[in-house]
Order: sequence, then structure tokens, then C-alpha cells
Amino acid sequence: MNARIIDGKQVAQKVRQEVAQSAAALRARGVVPGLAVVLVGEDPASQVYVRNKEKAAREAGVEPFDHHLPATTTQRELLDLVARLNADPTVDGILVQLPLPRGLDATAVIEAISPDKDVDGFHPQSVGRLWSGLPGFVPCTPLGVMRLLAEAGVQPDGLDAVVIGRSNIVGKPMAALLVAANATVTVYHSKTRDLPSIVRRADIVVAAIGRAEFVRGEWIKPGATVIDVGMNRIDGGGGGGGAKLVGDVEFAAAAERASAITPVPGGVGPMTIALLLSNTVRSAERRAARTAD
Ligand code: NAP
Repeated sequence: MNARIIDGKQVAQKVRQEVAQSAAALRARGVVPGLAVVLVGEDPASQVYVRNKEKAAREAGVEPFDHHLPATTTQRELLDLVARLNADPTVDGILVQLPLPRGLDATAVIEAISPDKDVDGFHPQSVGRLWSGLPGFVPCTPLGVMRLLAEAGVQPDGLDAVVIGRSNIVGKPMAALLVAANATVTVYHSKTRDLPSIVRRADIVVAAIGRAEFVRGEWIKPGATVIDVGMNRIDGGGGGGGAKLVGDVEFAAAAERASAITPVPGGVGPMTIALLLSNTVRSAERRAARTAD
């Protein structure tokens, strides 16, 4: 293997320490950073994500407010809760865990969250501000990728970047951040023709599709930086049963050609929660500045 491994666990730990320091400073001024975590229904994966977010929040000095609602919750009840959280001065960030149970309209819920508390960065106002180059909340996973690039010493300025995937939570905001960082960005999706030739030109490859090892190692330009956002559970093989987590990139072959690469797990994954906490503390700092005025 030639590539340097970008250690997301280590960088996430560093971000969490920074958050803990900021949270401690805020608490010393009487401002306790608060994150409301809304979970509707009993989806097992969502329950794990929410538990992890709340645990990480507590460890960093951010107070989690747990709102677990039954799957029978109506749109009105959910919107009422969001309105209460918007008005609650102890809440700096509101996170509604997606996906919502069938019958609930996630777009309407996201639009109901105050942009001042939109720590996931999914509100259309946050999206518009990101593309306009204005300050605002940025979705946590792409923000984490930018931090990993910075920690790996990769300056996107003038580089060719390809983002594979165009979801609202990863691909599109990723492209916006790379454009803002002066990369020349190509966004690939399911209608794009000839992915290999696009990837072969790219100095930075960010894969966020959700297809196990879809990006072949032989496509990677020698010396490129490869960021693998994908998290795919596949059969672990070996007859032992159990699932194995793999990314969207054929890791071993890509690592032969890349200069730096993120592993799965232990790459982008740990960054998402760390940046969520970072966004929450930023929001609390704004509250502290407002109350000091
Ligand atoms: P998503 O909403 O399903 O979007 C997938 C994107 O990939 C879409 O834009 C889709 O294109 C494109 N795509 C799917 N199959 C394709 C194919 N065969 N060829 C070309 N393009 C294809 O997924 P997401 O939420 O962005 O997540 C992507 C991956 O990242 C998943 O594995 C997810 O688990 C992972 N993820 C990880 C983190 C983390 O913290 N590490 C956070 C979020 C997501 P169209 O738009 O044309 O359909």
C-alpha cells in the first residue's frame, strides 16, 4: 500500500476536544450548550445513531434533550414540538433524526426548524447561504470531509475534484464546499456516463453513493486523495456469518494508487457526530454573544 491512511477517529477526537473546550468556556459564562434530539418511531438503526449522538454530546459538555415520540405521532404534533424547541432559549440545536416514519413529511419538518438552530444544515436557508458563500450551518458529513482534507494537508485550490453522489445531505453540500475552496468540481450521479474517465482525472475523489466498492481502485489517478463516505453492510464472508462494513471505494486497490485515503470504518464516519457537536457549540456561542449585548 502506498497511500497514507487519513485517521478519522483521531481527527474526530481532536474536534471533540475543541468542542469540549468551547462548551466548558460557555458553561463558565452560564451558557449550557443544548442539543434537542428528536426521534420518531422505533427504527433500530436510528435508535443507535441517536444514542451515540446523545452520549457524545454529554461527553463534550453539550446537554442533550431527548424527545422520543411514538411512530403514531402526527405531522401536527411533530411540528408543534419543533415550534416549542424553536422558542426554547436553552436549545441551541435541533436535530430531527431521519428517516421519519411513513406518513410524516420530512421536508416540512426541516423547513419548520429555525435556521438559527439548524445544526444539521438541511434547511433551505442554510443550503442557500452555503451556495451563496454566506455564513450559516453546513451539513456535518461534508464539513467533516473538509476538515479531514485540511488535516491531511490537502489544499483543494485549483485541484480537480469529483463528488460521486448528489444527495442533499452529502453530495450537493460537498460540491458547494469544494467549489468554495476553489476546486474544479464534477458531480457524478446515476445518470452520468463514463464515471471511470472522470475519476481518472480527479485529484480529489469523494465517494458518497451507498454501493459497496463501486469505485474501482484502477480508476484512481496516482497521487489522488480519496475520501470514502460510503457505509455499506455486507456479508462478512469466511463462513463465520456477521456483517462487515465497507465503503464505496475498492479500498486496497485504491490505496495502491492514492497518496491519501480514508478507511471504512474509521474515516468519515466518526467525523459526522463531532461536527454536529461543533455546530451546536457555535450556535450556543452566538446565543452567548446575543445575551451579552
Ligand atoms: P443517497 O441519498 O442514497 O444518495 C446516493 C447518491 O448516489 C444519489 O445521488 C444517486 O444518484 C447516486 N447513486 C446511487 N447509485 C448509483 C449508481 N449506481 N451510479 C451512480 N450514482 C449512483 O445516499 P447518501 O445519504 O448521500 O449516502 C451515501 C452513502 O454515504 C451511504 O453509504 C451512506 O450510508 C453514507 N453516509 C455516511 C455518512 C457518514 O457519517 N459517514 C453520512 C451520510 C451518509 P441519483 O441522485 O441519480 O439517484
